[in-house]
Amino acid sequence: MRFVHESPPQRVRFASGEAAGALGEEVDRLGASRVMVIAAPPEARLAEEVTAGLPVVHRHDDVAMHVPLAVAERARNAARDRGVDLVVTVGGGSTTGLGKAVALTTGLPVVAVPTTYAGSEATSVWGLTEDGRKTTGTDARVLPRAVVYDAALTVSLPVPMSVASGLNALAHCVDSMWGPRADPIDRVLAAEGARALAAGLPKITAEPTGLAGREQALYATYLSARAFSSAGSGLHHKICHVLGGRYNLPHAQTHAVVLPHVLAFNAPAAPEAEERLAAAFGASSAIEGLHRLRQAVDAPKALRDYGFEERDIDPVVPAILESVPEGNPRAVTAGDVRRLLHAAWEGADPRTPSTEREN
Ligand code: NAD
Repeated sequence: MRFVHESPPQRVRFASGEAAGALGEEVDRLGASRVMVIAAPPEARLAEEVTAGLPVVHRHDDVAMHVPLAVAERARNAARDRGVDLVVTVGGGSTTGLGKAVALTTGLPVVAVPTTYAGSEATSVWGLTEDGRKTTGTDARVLPRAVVYDAALTVSLPVPMSVASGLNALAHCVDSMWGPRADPIDRVLAAEGARALAAGLPKITAEPTGLAGREQALYATYLSARAFSSAGSGLHHKICHVLGGRYNLPHAQTHAVVLPHVLAFNAPAAPEAEERLAAAFGASSAIEGLHRLRQAVDAPKALRDYGFEERDIDPVVPAILESVPEGNPRAVTAGDVRRLLHAAWEGADPRTPSTEREN
């Protein structure tokens, strides 16, 4: 066995119902005295409760999905003008992403308090959008120094968004099985993440205000993002990145819809992934397990429900083909991409091979 696995320096605290105290201790540990809190307007109240005891010099609520460059610049300027020495983010991936954009150019430490299952807080990946084009990169400076996970903060996340966001975390797990740098440790983390999501998401839909399912989902969020950050983007993330950037599709829902189609495509050529995921789902096959989970939680089904049109399929095929990661378990042809996108567009059952559907 030969591999290199890097564990990034990050403190992680699970503190259900105790985010405020845990956050205060993390900020103290980092010796900060001039904190900027980033939280979008819908999460402002949540953020105020969690950060009430901190030495806050600025509250910043100018947050937008995919971090437009102008939004990042305004946040960076605010941090500089107020002499900020630490950034606290309270929110989903868009909010965490803005904190990372500030860290990227200022080097300021970030402490993240996630309120969705997107997992950005546990990766060194940053993203910025300019003129409708999304650029991503990896930089150790953007990795939050500490993360405080409090399942109680995700109770207000509506069930459909919780499901989509949880399936976004599951997509990290699945792609970590065959990402370009995937190693045995990533696969263990990803398999445990998939198991916890399969256990947790149905509990969230059954009892949205209960903590049991939400704790499982947050635990899985962290595992999935750690695995993904190490393994790198596989076919699934490449496809969603192109679609999301070009058609401004909602992030979590796009991942939730595309995932079973990529799994159905790759799994037959990736026996270890197939075996680990089937076991994680407690099912006869990975795709059957994912199908059952998606049924149980009423998962988002079709890209056409989110603004992607049938006529968008052909023009986007070349960009996706270009981005297929080297080492994907299967070679990918233009016809494969077209069939996969068509199935995702119409919400076809991924267990039925596309050739059968076409006949
Ligand atoms: P988001 O942050 O845009 O949040 C989605 C919606 O949920 C927003 O309307 C938000 O206000 C609301 N919300 C968040 N928490 C809530 C709560 N607890 N209760 C009620 N409403 C709540 O979406 P997201 O899916 O969390 O993140 C998507 C973004 O994150 C994308 O830009 C994506 O590219 C990025 N992302 C980056 C990485 C990475 O590693 N860099 C990983 C995953 C996602």
